[in-house]
Amino acid sequence: MWRNIRIAILLLILAVAAWSHWYDKLSTTDWDETLYVGIFPIDEAENTVARDYIADLSANRFADIEEFLNEEAQGYGIGIARPVSVELYPPVTERPPEHAANYNVFQNMWWSLRLRMYARRASRDSGKPPPQIRIFVIYHDPTFTQAVPHSVGLQKGLVGVVHAFASDGKTSTNNVVIAHEILHTLGASDKYDPETLAPLYPAGYAEPDRSPRMPQPFAEIMAGRRAIDDHTFQIPESLDRVVVGEATALEIRWTRE
Ligand SMILES: [Zn+2]
Repeated sequence: MWRNIRIAILLLILAVAAWSHWYDKLSTTDWDETLYVGIFPIDEAENTVARDYIADLSANRFADIEEFLNEEAQGYGIGIARPVSVELYPPVTERPPEHAANYNVFQNMWWSLRLRMYARRASRDSGKPPPQIRIFVIYHDPTFTQAVPHSVGLQKGLVGVVHAFASDGKTSTNNVVIAHEILHTLGASDKYDPETLAPLYPAGYAEPDRSPRMPQPFAEIMAGRRAIDDHTFQIPESLDRVVVGEATALEIRWTRE
């Protein structure tokens, strides 16, 4: 009998997890009311450059993310006035749990569970209603960090962790990464080759039907780069040079099959 009870409890937990994932997925991609995204800045190494940069942050630093997502949404026929709202939240001192690329399935599950608990805890004392999607942006001092760790966005738990540079000159490219991770939380997949970083054809091309095909003037947001030629792929300097392609629009349910 105890065995049956244990199995029943396990099945119940799995059912609740499946239901909450399904509910999150549907409620964030039905596009009939504004989706709220919160940005939570974190200073990477308690260093003065990152701290000063964060102290100087204001909501308008992130305005182009909201503008980009809303213009693209409306381009795909989303009818509401403000499909996405991006708001700046107060800085968070606790850092998210670290992730390693060589984690196995169970380590990944454990990490994603801890990340979700972290996200809930870290956004609790902000003094504002919690957003639906939480993006933690860890700012690194560019004089000490040449390359930042990989950013992630998880649909399960609606949370993202972005590694960014604490530098005025990098604000626009930071925002391209933030927009990319927001779209991951909505179910969009990467559209580049992880080995070569080449945009995948056709889904990772802003204008797949363009002739000649290269150079592409714009990048697809989930490809992250535009193809200049067969071997050169360039990171866009700002969201002005980025579009949401048709495959991504379908994944986040801006369009339906
Ligand atoms: Zn990605």
